[in-house]
Amino acid sequence: MQLIQQNLATIDPIVLDELSAQGLIAEVLRLDKVHPVISGNKWFKLQFYLQEAVQSNKKHILTYGGPWSNHLVATAAACKELGLRCTGVVRGESPKQLTPTLQEAASWGMKIEFISRADYSTQKRKYSSTQSDLYVIPEGGYGKLGVKGAATLFSLTKEKSYTHLLCAVGTGTMLAGLLTMAPKSCQCIGIPVLNGANALEEAIQLQTASDKKNWRLETGFEWGGYAKHPPQLIQFMNSFFKKTNIPTDIVYTGKLFYAFTQLVEKNYFEKNSRILLIHSGGLQGNRSLSASQLDFS
Ligand SMILES: *Cc1c(COP(=O)(O)O)cnc(C)c1O
Repeated sequence: MQLIQQNLATIDPIVLDELSAQGLIAEVLRLDKVHPVISGNKWFKLQFYLQEAVQSNKKHILTYGGPWSNHLVATAAACKELGLRCTGVVRGESPKQLTPTLQEAASWGMKIEFISRADYSTQKRKYSSTQSDLYVIPEGGYGKLGVKGAATLFSLTKEKSYTHLLCAVGTGTMLAGLLTMAPKSCQCIGIPVLNGANALEEAIQLQTASDKKNWRLETGFEWGGYAKHPPQLIQFMNSFFKKTNIPTDIVYTGKLFYAFTQLVEKNYFEKNSRILLIHSGGLQGNRSLSASQLDFS
């Protein structure tokens, strides 16, 4: 099963004076390029869930997300291509108008259902008990099969000898997957984009082999919490694009690349470090901004 074009995921150098001044080499794995819709890490995390669903003859996929969820769009597009029915359950009251993200998911055939925050967990159970051809994928692809899928990402790094690997952390599934493949000599650094790093740390620990020590989370780059994007973050994203030609998103990769530049400024990396950053996609989420805010699209 292969819906995306992995060979489109190039590894691009990041050229910045600060890096050469410190003797650092940094590159970006451009997962934002693999598919116009199912971009970034989401296909990787979905693939084994979908495979299991198809193999066990399930015809209806149900999953969860927020109104700007990359996961819902990716799931919708993947189900369309696989000929599976799908439902996206969204927290919150039904709005007058769907967000562009949900409109897009709906255009791929996803049925969108809103449930109140209070009902979220009870509803979850209700769905799974009433339909035998239903296959439920955890929000964000969190879980064992998501980690297994994210691990396949590592082969795209061409397994060059990086000393550090940096990625954004939502549920931590991508980081857990990368960790299962990364050699001990490679420090895997996650940048949480939401508050509550302790819970994340546990989630990642749970999802990886416990003997893995070559990872850590660097916190302080949440910008107030999940999907919060103060004007300074937007400014950073614009100036980073101007310097590097790399577009970023407000929820994940903007915060990742900002954190990276801050860590470089603090002399976090030793001279001659070879650093790989994972551009995990998510650019569609920028549609929540008004048109004039970003200098790229
Ligand atoms: C979902 C997502 C992440 C976070 O992945 P997790 O496995 O949940 O940590 C990072 N970047 C982008 C663009 C995403 O859409």
